[in-house]
Amino acid sequence: MELWQEMVRDSVHTVDHVVEKFGIDRKVAEDLDEFFQARINPYYLSLIRYPGDPIWRQCVPSKVELDDFDAEEDPLHEDEMSPVPNITHRYPDRALFLVTSQCGIYCRFCTRKRKVGDYEKISMKGLESAFKYLEEHTEIRDVILSGGDPLMLTDTMLEKILQRLRQIKHIEIIRLGTRMPVVLPQRITTKLCNMLKKYHPIYCNTHFNHPWEITPESSKACEMLADAGVPVGNQMVIMKGVNDDPAVVKELVQKLLRIRVRPYYMYMADETKGANHFRASVETGLKIVEALRGHTSGLAIPHFVIDAPGGGGKIPLLPNYVLHMDEEEIILRNFQNKVYRYKNYADKNNPDGFGSKKKKTNGKKKVEKKKVEVPVLEDA
Ligand code: SF4
Repeated sequence: MELWQEMVRDSVHTVDHVVEKFGIDRKVAEDLDEFFQARINPYYLSLIRYPGDPIWRQCVPSKVELDDFDAEEDPLHEDEMSPVPNITHRYPDRALFLVTSQCGIYCRFCTRKRKVGDYEKISMKGLESAFKYLEEHTEIRDVILSGGDPLMLTDTMLEKILQRLRQIKHIEIIRLGTRMPVVLPQRITTKLCNMLKKYHPIYCNTHFNHPWEITPESSKACEMLADAGVPVGNQMVIMKGVNDDPAVVKELVQKLLRIRVRPYYMYMADETKGANHFRASVETGLKIVEALRGHTSGLAIPHFVIDAPGGGGKIPLLPNYVLHMDEEEIILRNFQNKVYRYKNYADKNNPDGFGSKKKKTNGKKKVEKKKVEVPVLEDA
């Protein structure tokens, strides 16, 4: 057994463990276990500094999860977009390939609770029909291995999947959606990195939510992946009591760049059963973006998105920097609330397009445009 496997084995996961370790009432612990079992490995457990801190909230079962049984189990309607077991095909050229139900910890906010935990939640018997689907759908050029966490597979099993995917000519890139560099960085071994190198281009999307998750161990794991030629991006979720604070997110994204991880997405939390106590307001998310844009490197700023309920996909959100726009000009504010005018461009190749000087008047007399006043804003 490798060290990371021993750490999974030694996780807090039974009702007895949860009662003993966190002082949760036994009946509540039993109900929570039935809803979504606990798994907290010794490494992630060691990051907790005090009860209720941002690490604790992400992994320790809480009574409030049981107040939330009306919310949806599959808010993103992934199962409706699953043409064969283990595949979700929502976007034209990408597909999600679920390869295991297991994870290094079970995050209390998880959107895919219905698929995570028990081994039978994602069947390994579905892999063959999934490969066949990927072979037949030549429009798919990007496959994201997910689950659960694909790095819970042994190197041998993962390599078999990668080998098979690499035999499919139209698949250009493979992505690993994994929280292991954050929650069990011991999983990123030299052996794993040497194996991954054989199947490039491979990208990794990981999931840091708080600066305390950036430790010497997780930094080393991310650097090993980067050294193996695997670019690492981060997808975080804004969560109440975890990171719903511009200063916390700023510290996180700056530290991520130092360990060669590119902040990629910042999500609003999904409307998931048992996890609505984590949801912060959209205004909070916009304030976080305002606090980043212009105030730190553009490279550190993730796309702020809502994954639309019902399977609408990721929709980007931005604070309102456009104060006015017409065919003549656009009036903008910058990160300091200073206002700027920018002349619009008449596109000669698109005479009917917005910004064209040759706009059709439909026989009506052209109305003389009134000059738009530049608004005065408070300094940011
Ligand atoms: S690692 Fe990902 S899939 Fe697994 S429990 Fe956490 S959020 Fe869910």
